[in-house]
Amino acid sequence: MEFVSTRGGGTPVSFTEAFARGLAPDGGLYVPRHLPLLASDILVEDAMPYAALAWDFLSLFDTDHDSEHLIDIIDRSYGDFSDTINAPLQQLGDNLFVLELFHGPSLSFKDFGLQLIGNLFEEQIERTGIPINVLGATSGDTGSAAIHGLAGKKGVNVFILYPEGRISDLQERQMTCTGAENIFPIPIKGTFDDGQAIVKELMSDLEFKDKMRLSAINSINVVRVLAQCVYYIHAYTQLPPDNRDDVNFVVPTGNFGNIFAGWMVHQMGLPVDRFIVATNQNDILYRLFNTGEYQPDMVHPSHAPSMDIQVASNFERFLYYHNEKNAKSTLALMEQFKKDGSITIPNFNASNFSATRSTDEDILANIRRVKEDYDYVIDPHTACGFQNLSPDRTHVVLATAHPAKFPDIIKKAIGETPTDPSLEALKKKEKVTYPVEATAAAVRQFLEENGI
Ligand SMILES: *Cc1c(COP(=O)(O)O)cnc(C)c1O
Repeated sequence: MEFVSTRGGGTPVSFTEAFARGLAPDGGLYVPRHLPLLASDILVEDAMPYAALAWDFLSLFDTDHDSEHLIDIIDRSYGDFSDTINAPLQQLGDNLFVLELFHGPSLSFKDFGLQLIGNLFEEQIERTGIPINVLGATSGDTGSAAIHGLAGKKGVNVFILYPEGRISDLQERQMTCTGAENIFPIPIKGTFDDGQAIVKELMSDLEFKDKMRLSAINSINVVRVLAQCVYYIHAYTQLPPDNRDDVNFVVPTGNFGNIFAGWMVHQMGLPVDRFIVATNQNDILYRLFNTGEYQPDMVHPSHAPSMDIQVASNFERFLYYHNEKNAKSTLALMEQFKKDGSITIPNFNASNFSATRSTDEDILANIRRVKEDYDYVIDPHTACGFQNLSPDRTHVVLATAHPAKFPDIIKKAIGETPTDPSLEALKKKEKVTYPVEATAAAVRQFLEENGI
């Protein structure tokens, strides 16, 4: 399969190349040249083992590695989840399901993308003999998932920018207590968007990117999106047959990567009635899906910090498809966005989407209600997914993180503190951080001094 840029620049590239580059050279994001239809037996099948399903799906796109090699990479990526189903579907009510995506090593759904990415980087470094520097920004969970995917691997140093004081203590510990010498967690004074802007700036300086052999782990990497497609199919095949006709996937959303993956599989034939974009009080996407206007506001720190985002990188991929794969008009809109700071999407059609927004109070109330009604504890991000659900449709709410990652907020909501053994062990370890000034110039210099 070939991959093209949403902005139409450059020539189509292979899976391996799109993976290695992250961002396309024209500043656009890679998307598959076309979206193949899912084989119909995938959808009637009762849930296959996760790794087998992942191979079925990913081999449509990765036509570079031979089967055996890809199977091995996938097995290693999904082999050490704490639940053997990897993404088990829990039924809470007649029409209400939770897709638990937090059984990976860093306890968030981001492990699904980043475990695979870690192993693909390792394979790439072995194959080419060229070491790389991985640079990313995180609102909390991407960083810990990337670090769990890459800690201790040979030929790679990892630099993760995170907003100091705006992620939970345990999220910070997951990044800073690994003891691995190739990991550089960088607290910055600023927001996630500030970190993301620095990463984008350094990544689009092609000379620097080449010199440092920089690679990306943010959801701009198309492989993350592809990896995340798999659990939508897995969820569908775990549903009772009666619930398969009008499935609504509810996705706690920040950067639009997770929900975009679901929408992409829907384009490939997964029957879905609707995708519900669940935002916290940082509601740019809520406003977009209600008005067609994409207008960033300030970031307001919330109880669901991994969604404290205004500029949703993956939205560009959606725009591209919304423009019927017209890269020219996507480029024009992105340029206008850069110039004016906001855009109105012409002929905006949100047909498969609707959106909700949760304040911090809603988050606490939803955690409390789900505990009372179903004796089930959800994390603050997942709680946004429980906002205003109608009881007469089938809803699958994606549980994007383990509640034990956010003990303070859960305690505030229901008076108890969920725990997880891997997190308890971290509390005894020392944090190692590398504070750097929140400017592209300072981060550039740090990379030059500490890159591999
Ligand atoms: C990253 C994250 C999200 C948002 O996902 P996007 O793909 O950025 O939309 C939601 N919940 C949790 C727990 C996360 O870590």
